[in-house]
This record gives sequence, structure tokens and C-alpha cells, in this order.
Amino acid sequence: MTSDSSVLIGLLLPDVLGTYSDSGNATVLAQRLRWRGIPAEVLRCTAGQDPPTGCDIYLLGGGEDTAQLFAASWLRSHRALCRAMERGGVTLAVCAGLQILGHTMADGTGRDHPGAGLLDITTRPRRRRAIGNIVTECHLPGVGQLCGFENHRGATSLGRDARPLGQVVDGIGNGATPFGRAAVEGVLSERIIGTYLHGPVLARNPALADHILVRATGGPLPPLELPDQAVLREMYL
Ligand code: GLN
Repeated sequence: MTSDSSVLIGLLLPDVLGTYSDSGNATVLAQRLRWRGIPAEVLRCTAGQDPPTGCDIYLLGGGEDTAQLFAASWLRSHRALCRAMERGGVTLAVCAGLQILGHTMADGTGRDHPGAGLLDITTRPRRRRAIGNIVTECHLPGVGQLCGFENHRGATSLGRDARPLGQVVDGIGNGATPFGRAAVEGVLSERIIGTYLHGPVLARNPALADHILVRATGGPLPPLELPDQAVLREMYL
């Protein structure tokens, strides 16, 4: 947080990554803070800019294969940002955003490309794309089930230092689970949450948004009374 107590949300490469409106995750976080009377600022950092390194939260979205290779080398060339993501703030990375934080990712021809190395994961292409709605049981305390839309060819294997974000209830998820084991989705490290869920995922899963906000602000947050939500539930459930 800055001296005037604004929570700083760094939206990284919205011009390169951000399929399915993943940039909306920044809007959701900022709005949920403002509704609680906490000032928030979204810092959009496009490819030609020097990235901010003092943010409370960093966001990366999904993208096509070529876009994500560019994003991976952009990240690797900004070591101070990588260090900040490792040690400073909380990061949410979606799909391609998740893949580029790993050790390597292979393209459609099987050739490996280096990632930023912040997560103990590797990604290789599946035979078929995973496309469709997905529901998972999230391992983060109090978050419950997550829902979203997945569309990826990459299958992500977790190393020893990475834990899954959740268990797949319906859908594919990371797509690299050994035969006979329950399928898992996403990745968790100390400061990074990675997921294959688009939506934007935080618009569809406010409990995950609040989990990130609690970690970034360091305190409990008052629950939000959103009368519209109650009305919508009455209408559609
Ligand atoms: N290009 C990556 C894949 O297909 C990520 C896709 C995405 O971000 N939706 O695996």
C-alpha cells in the first residue's frame, strides 16, 4: 500500500495477455476495495513501459502461444519485477500467465521455451485442447468451489515446490495428472496463485478475489452487502 493507503494493483501486459477479459480481474479487485472504503489504484503496464515493482498485487492474463512467448521474454528481461513478484506482492496469473511463470513451456512443435522460473512447473502441449466450463474445489481456506472457462493446449506438471490450487470437479484443469490420480487445477506457491480459469475468474468467484485482497492488505475485510447479488440469486437459482 502507498503512503495514502491506496492498494496498488499492477496489471501486467494487458496489451499482450488478456483473453476472455482477464484484465477485468483488476477492475473486480479495485471495486471490491472501493466498496469497502479502501482506495485502490490500477497501474496498467504495457509492453513498452518499465513495470512497477512496488505493487501489492500483480495480475497476468491468458493469451495465444505467440503472445505468451513474447510475454515470457519480457518478464525474464525485467528481473526486478520478477523479484517483486517472488517476494513483494501477491500475484494472480491466468492460463498463459501461469505457464510463463514456470521453468519451461513447449510450443506446438515440442520445442521448449524458457519461462520466468518463478513457479516449479513445466508445460507441454496436450494432444487435444482443453475447452469448456470447469468447476474445481479450491484448496485455499474458505474459498470453496471455483468455476470458470478453460481453453488451453498446454498441460502443466507441478514440481515438488508447487501445490495445486484445487481439485477438478468437472473439466480438465492442468491436464497432466498421472493416470489413476484425481485431476488437479492451477498452482500455488507462497505468493503466486496460478489458474487456468477465465471468466474473468475473480468476477465469477468473489471469494477468491477477497482471499487475494485479505493477503494483499494484511487484514480481515468487512463482508460486502451487495443487494443486487441477492436479487439475482432469487431470480436465477
Ligand atoms: N496458449 C496457451 C495454451 O493454449 C494458453 C492459452 C490461454 O491463455 N487461454 O495452452
